Amino acid sequence: MVAKTGVVDLGSHGGKFTWFQKSNITGGVFRLKRARLDKALASIDWRMLHPNAITQVLSSATSDHRPILLDMDGGVNCRRTQFKYELMWGHDPKCFWVVKNAWKDRLHHNPMLNFYCKLKKTRDQLSIWNKVHFKMLGHQLGDSSGEFSIRSTCRIVNGGGSVIQAEHRWKRIWKSTLHPRLKLLWWQLERDAFQTRGKLAGFMEITNDSCPVCGEEKETIFHLLWQCTIAKAIWFNSPLGIRVDRVSVWDWKQWQEWFLDDCNRPPNISFEDILIVALCVVEAVWRERNSIVHGQTRSQISQLISRVNCKIQEHKYVASNDIEDFCAWSPPPARRFHKFCKNFKNWEIGHVPRNCNFMAHNIAKWARQFRVTGLIRSTELDKSVLDDYVEWKKHAVFFMAS
Ligand SMILES: [Zn+2]
Repeated sequence: MVAKTGVVDLGSHGGKFTWFQKSNITGGVFRLKRARLDKALASIDWRMLHPNAITQVLSSATSDHRPILLDMDGGVNCRRTQFKYELMWGHDPKCFWVVKNAWKDRLHHNPMLNFYCKLKKTRDQLSIWNKVHFKMLGHQLGDSSGEFSIRSTCRIVNGGGSVIQAEHRWKRIWKSTLHPRLKLLWWQLERDAFQTRGKLAGFMEITNDSCPVCGEEKETIFHLLWQCTIAKAIWFNSPLGIRVDRVSVWDWKQWQEWFLDDCNRPPNISFEDILIVALCVVEAVWRERNSIVHGQTRSQISQLISRVNCKIQEHKYVASNDIEDFCAWSPPPARRFHKFCKNFKNWEIGHVPRNCNFMAHNIAKWARQFRVTGLIRSTELDKSVLDDYVEWKKHAVFFMAS
């Protein structure tokens, strides 16, 4: 009757059934009858006007019916898991037949309700099929524990052991002795995380995707690291003296494979040594590229090379772990002062306050102002420079000279 009139059930919140009856069967065994006798119905137009309306099933102590209350906004609080169509279903040919079977019958004479009923049936049939067909997904994905996990899925999607390879890759980064900043750059390289024009062009409209530094090729991070004119100059002028043109690699993966091979590295040079140069090149060229993009002046190539070479030295020093940490002041060895002083025949200790210790400071100041270097005879110096109690000032010399 309800189906024929073309009205829809508003659904309920707070309980499935509104009527209960307990009947006594023989031997003290009870049977419970229950049904959803009370419901709210509405026309499709009304339903579309009030999509959040729902009936609340209230509790009752005295009646076998539970009262229902029409709540116009109660639907927003419903937390039932929503049906979601899984993309993987479409890859299974059986999915087509599940949908076709659910869709084939006419379920209502009203076309709108027929459409609604078919959608609902498709949803139910797909949910059941999903449970039956994919229930042992973990086993199908080959996880030893039988549990479904992102890791096992990733392993299958990437065709086997690449998760382990990837883990090995990240472990190599974090366990290396490089400076944390270089590690971060290395990680960014592995993830292709630099927002180069070539990368941005993949998902947004860019009028120019060429390298801002040389303008010769499409800008990728590998180009900036290896193929760009600045990068080539730095590699050649680095302590390794590598000629980029002699090494035929076309991406970061090939680059690593090439230099991980002992035969391809200069003697006594480790992969980490080459990596330090690569990361310093990336850092320098990326900075230069950014300043060009933001309209600042270009650095001179010679300055850039010497700056990068300094950095390479510093990072090699950090990676060698041969650094002594001075974290706190410690007193000199005991009796050292006494040992020095006993070499003198006559000696006494005097206190020189800081503000009466100008002589050394004065000489340095004088030498700097007159740009004097090398050996200086004391006769060349003005008396006031050698005064230990007064700070020497340049204008005072001019005053005396005049
Ligand atoms: Zn370039």
